[in-house]
Amino acid sequence: MWTRKTDEELKTENANKEKSARRTGFYTALLFFPFYIFFSKYIGTKSRMGGNTLLGPTLTWYEILKELPIILFLCILFGLSMYLYTRKFRQVSSLICDSCGKIKHYGKIKDCDCGGHFVFLDDMKWVENNETKNDNRREK
Ligand SMILES: [Zn+2]
Repeated sequence: MWTRKTDEELKTENANKEKSARRTGFYTALLFFPFYIFFSKYIGTKSRMGGNTLLGPTLTWYEILKELPIILFLCILFGLSMYLYTRKFRQVSSLICDSCGKIKHYGKIKDCDCGGHFVFLDDMKWVENNETKNDNRREK
């Protein structure tokens, strides 16, 4: 049966989510940096300052060095948005009826046809229903 997670479990879970979102953001920024430099140096930059081609000229090492603060800024920005995206994305959750266990996408309607209420699936966990098992055994 579905049962609500304890506050302790939710706290641990949120901490883990936060940690993994931070990690995602951090590694995104970390990987974006060499990728961006490689791209600027060997492939070409995207239409810089009024250039009318999609791929502009490649940069020299000196130019890359000059643009380093901008590149770093972009990396941080990119990593940060990945971090925020990961956090937000995981918060949007499916809903589950606390009575019949029906699962649906997140929406405004919080009442189920069965009379139960929809709650966040993330707040619930599945546990084996021991009582039912025991009942079954007794019947046999
Ligand atoms: Zn229901």
